[in-house]
Amino acid sequence: MIDGLVRKTRFTSFDGTLSLCTEHQRPDRFSHLESPDRTAFRIPRGGGYAYSAASFGGHSLVQEMTSFNRFLEFDPVQLTLKLEAGVRLIDLMEWALPRNLHFPVLPGYPLITVGGCVAADVHGKNPHKDGTFSDWVKQLTLYHPQHGYISCSPDEHPDLFSMTCGGYGLTGVITNVTLQLAELPAPAIALARKRVCSLSEANDCLSSQDSDIAYSWHDASPGASFGRGIVFNGSWSRTTQQPRPLTFRPMTADSRARLPFSAWNGLTARVANAAVLLQNRYQNDVSETGILAASFPFASNIYFHTLFGKPGLRETQFLVSEAKMGDCLVALEKLIRDTAAPTMMLSLKRFRGTQKSLSMSGTGCLVALDCYRNEKTDAFLRQLDQLLVDMGGQINLSKDSRISQEVAELAISSFAGFKERLFEYDKERIMRSELSHRLGLL
Ligand SMILES: Cc1cc2nc3c(=O)[nH]c(=O)nc-3n(C[C@H](O)[C@H](O)[C@H](O)COP(=O)(O)OP(=O)(O)OC[C@H]3O[C@@H](n4cnc5c(N)ncnc54)[C@H](O)[C@@H]3O)c2cc1C
Repeated sequence: MIDGLVRKTRFTSFDGTLSLCTEHQRPDRFSHLESPDRTAFRIPRGGGYAYSAASFGGHSLVQEMTSFNRFLEFDPVQLTLKLEAGVRLIDLMEWALPRNLHFPVLPGYPLITVGGCVAADVHGKNPHKDGTFSDWVKQLTLYHPQHGYISCSPDEHPDLFSMTCGGYGLTGVITNVTLQLAELPAPAIALARKRVCSLSEANDCLSSQDSDIAYSWHDASPGASFGRGIVFNGSWSRTTQQPRPLTFRPMTADSRARLPFSAWNGLTARVANAAVLLQNRYQNDVSETGILAASFPFASNIYFHTLFGKPGLRETQFLVSEAKMGDCLVALEKLIRDTAAPTMMLSLKRFRGTQKSLSMSGTGCLVALDCYRNEKTDAFLRQLDQLLVDMGGQINLSKDSRISQEVAELAISSFAGFKERLFEYDKERIMRSELSHRLGLL
């Protein structure tokens, strides 16, 4: 029987493209987590910052894990920290920094939870140097209503461990995670900005460096400035004594969508991008910034997301091998120009590792592209899907809310293997979401 804590809640994907009302529970103890009928469909949820509907949908009860937020155990010799899956990244960093510790793989928003990071196997500011989130997970505990609690690690139930890291909650609810921390090299980051005229110049620049933070930002509107941008390279700096605190106003999928219309269109995108480039021209080439501000750039800059308003945005991310990246960038620029695509900004990063589960991981170069929504958007993105499949690219299911089963099968090398093992492990497919429905992982 489902206990009294279950209510109906409307959930919206962070990109604003899907919204629906569904059953919702926020367990704060194990008995609540275990209380729904063992056969009831469900899906775990963290902070709700996935752009896709990965943590709701599929007629499932949403089990939101944000009250599972305790720090459990710290080993000062091994520098491992066991914490509950609902701990937010800002809480993790505010615990670690005063102890001169650091967690290197931080996605761009502070209220994302540890459980959500494991489930999407997220990346930080330099995946070429630091890998993805799961590379720093030593152990985790998973709850599945039909299997109970299972401890997994690379040595204990390794198959379940690897399916869960990047498994989008489909193997069960992660209740706690043991993370490997690192010593904090310095309290701040010296962030160097280099202006570039094209995507290929940025790609060359990123390939020749391996600093602690390495990514680029570009104007992606199909005009004269297409490809102009900034390559960011950050290295640790000791000129300040203390890590600076982060102050920000929380943004959620609902607050992001408060504006009833989108302020972004072809003209405003070009003007805003020109302003960013102009502002950068008058900034120092190197400036010092706190580690939290450098790690969570979208905490203080909410305008980019909120100005997409209620119509929302489409983001797509894909990873292409280094050998194909040059051709891919040329073909991408041609596609954007030929279709006068509703693209706004683009970012590049390099990755190193092996592809796992459903996650975007492995070795290559990442392209992240944001579009405002109009009648052309989804047709353009379908053409882009074809391009990335032709290039042997890999997609990011947490950032792109429209990927079809057909594209996922072609663009995630371990998709078929993951599906087979998932159906073996969970024959009735209890854990489901809109994402799992869309991908045929019912
Ligand atoms: C502004 C912004 C910047 C971002 N920057 C980056 C970035 O730089 N790099 C990057 O990789 N991603 C980035 N993301 C995406 C984000 O990191 C992922 O979508 C992440 O999964 C969100 O975690 P969450 O806690 O919000 O989980 P949710 O969005 O609630 O859920 C995401 C997935 O995790 C599963 N899940 C959540 N908690 C658990 C649990 N306890 N047990 C099992 N499964 C669980 C859900 O079922 C779902 O499949 C960004 C998102 C935003 C909004």
